[in-house]
Amino acid sequence: MQDRILPPAKAVQNTHCTAQDYAALHARSLSDPDGFWADQARRIDWDRFPTRIAGWSYDPVDISWFEDGILNLCFNCVDRHLPSRADQVAILWEGDEPGVARTLTYAGLYAEVVRMANCLKELGATKGDRVTLYMPMIPEAAVAMLACARIGAVHSVVFGGFSPDALRGRIDDCASRFVITADGGMRGGKLVPLKANVDEALEGSAVQSVIVVRHCGNAVAMSEGRDHWYDTLGATVPDTCPCEPMNAEDPLFILYTSGSTGKPKGVLHTTGGYAVWTATTFHYVFDYRDGEIFWCTADVGWVTGHSYVVYGPLANGATTLMYEGVPNYPDCSRNWDMVERHKVDIFYTAPTAIRALMREGAAPVKKHDRSSLRLLGTVGEPINPEAWRWYYETVGDSRCPVVDTWWQTETGGIMITTLPGAHAMKPGSAGLPFFGIAPELVDAGGNVLEGAASGNLCIARSWPGQMRTVYGDHERFVQTYFTAYRGKYFTGDGCRRDEDGYYWITGRVDDVLNVSGHRLGTAEVESALVLHPKVAEAAVVGYPHDIKGQGIYCYVTLIAGEEASEALETELKQLVRHEIGPIATPDLLHFTPALPKTRSGKIMRRILRKIAENEFATLGDTSTLADPGLVDSLIEGRRNT
Ligand code: ATP
Ligand code: MG
Repeated sequence: MQDRILPPAKAVQNTHCTAQDYAALHARSLSDPDGFWADQARRIDWDRFPTRIAGWSYDPVDISWFEDGILNLCFNCVDRHLPSRADQVAILWEGDEPGVARTLTYAGLYAEVVRMANCLKELGATKGDRVTLYMPMIPEAAVAMLACARIGAVHSVVFGGFSPDALRGRIDDCASRFVITADGGMRGGKLVPLKANVDEALEGSAVQSVIVVRHCGNAVAMSEGRDHWYDTLGATVPDTCPCEPMNAEDPLFILYTSGSTGKPKGVLHTTGGYAVWTATTFHYVFDYRDGEIFWCTADVGWVTGHSYVVYGPLANGATTLMYEGVPNYPDCSRNWDMVERHKVDIFYTAPTAIRALMREGAAPVKKHDRSSLRLLGTVGEPINPEAWRWYYETVGDSRCPVVDTWWQTETGGIMITTLPGAHAMKPGSAGLPFFGIAPELVDAGGNVLEGAASGNLCIARSWPGQMRTVYGDHERFVQTYFTAYRGKYFTGDGCRRDEDGYYWITGRVDDVLNVSGHRLGTAEVESALVLHPKVAEAAVVGYPHDIKGQGIYCYVTLIAGEEASEALETELKQLVRHEIGPIATPDLLHFTPALPKTRSGKIMRRILRKIAENEFATLGDTSTLADPGLVDSLIEGRRNT
């Protein structure tokens, strides 16, 4: 297959954005940002339309958008759709067990959100209060987020897979006095004891009230005066609740990053800019058409769940599918089974899930009818071209465009992507900047590189969805993002721009290798390794090497049933040599049954780096690892390489 794939014909029909549109809109978004964003802001209903649009500086750092605008985001996601969409499904939910489903129409969503908002008010929550959500993937998770937005409370969603310790840290960090949880959640047939975890996290804490949604029916302890069943409390509250008028720059939520690179940061997003950014990106990137079923598989515990399960789709009056479980339960055809049953039009998932499903071959995909699919998307990590092709050909039957969307918790929404009806796709490249985005590649000395080049990815100008601060630590915000290159936002990612202006994320800057003076992206070496039919996944890091400066250390997991051998080691080294060149030949190969991942499924390279460097004592924060036990076996493996 060629490495430039044109949008399939159907994608171009009735698209919201052709190639010509993109060129004109992108140019205007940079030459006349105020005019452009004032126009996009009309996607949102404002109590007072802003007269000031872009008001930001990167030196000193002070960011605001739509500064004098007044709005409520819950109103925009729920109430305003009632005249036209009361009976349309807003949230289509499927539980962990196949076929267990529930739907909330926009009218139903309104009723639930009002009930939850009034429960919060009843317990004394008001504008500006932080409310921590620790929820399974059930409609009440979205309801609770929207209820907070309705009354002006700031939600902090903590992924339901986190431990009581991790939960406590996040509750304390933002001093929240309210928690919303459920008795339990189901994932892959197993009960997650959410309420019991909350009880452990709250020992000795200042949290004053906990709302408990009844979901699994498991027995839980209720602390008198503190804990309230949602069904009981919600039965007696009023059935209306006004939307709090919010200034555009009032905080909407705090979300802690996944912790791949260090201690999680409390990323703060505000109301107006985030609303415009998620509504606009959802409209263009997914090219959403009225009536379509949109399925983003992310948990609401991650930013992807915030922006593309809840706010982006609902602001656009879409039907969003929410799934409680995991992609391999009861078996690895679950996603496709759901696509078939719910006639999903747009499917958005992560490379880690695609690679895991690819391991299982085409049969589980092919046995389900996927003719409803129109568009596929990916986010979270660089996608290896091999996995991209499998997604495009096997899942999408070479019929559905794939959008590879690069963005971060910090950016609020999608930043670099192709638009499905406008651009050719290149497997492994995220694509082109979204409207208003001015990427810059900068070398170590801070020089801006022109044309085809590789460097550190910065963004030269603010965009509406940008985070405003690290909660409670503005200095960390400035230090982390604006100090390496003065006057620019530094993403922390390395990147290459090709001759067509497409961006290729090469991994975190910390992950770029310098081998005998040559700069090599870890993602490139990994993509070469996974070309081997026996290799399932690979993670590559550098380690100190006497001659080369840095040596190439490769962690490799094999397809189920395959065994490591010296012959395979030689084959893999030759494969990388052949694909990239002699300079990239791996120095050490470490076969392991699994790779350490964050709870969001990202490979935690900083731990792999430490282990490769033989720095076992200074692994840093491992609390966000999905399987902390793996670390010991990796250390053991390192001792044997
Ligand atoms: P932390 O900031 O705590 O280390 P994190 O960076 O993993 O955690 P996120 O904000 O969820 O937290 O992830 C953003 C990062 O994910 C990006 O900086 C980039 O490295 C990677 N990423 C996301 N989407 C893509 C993509 N489409 N292609 C390549 N990389 C991606
Ligand atoms: Mg990050």
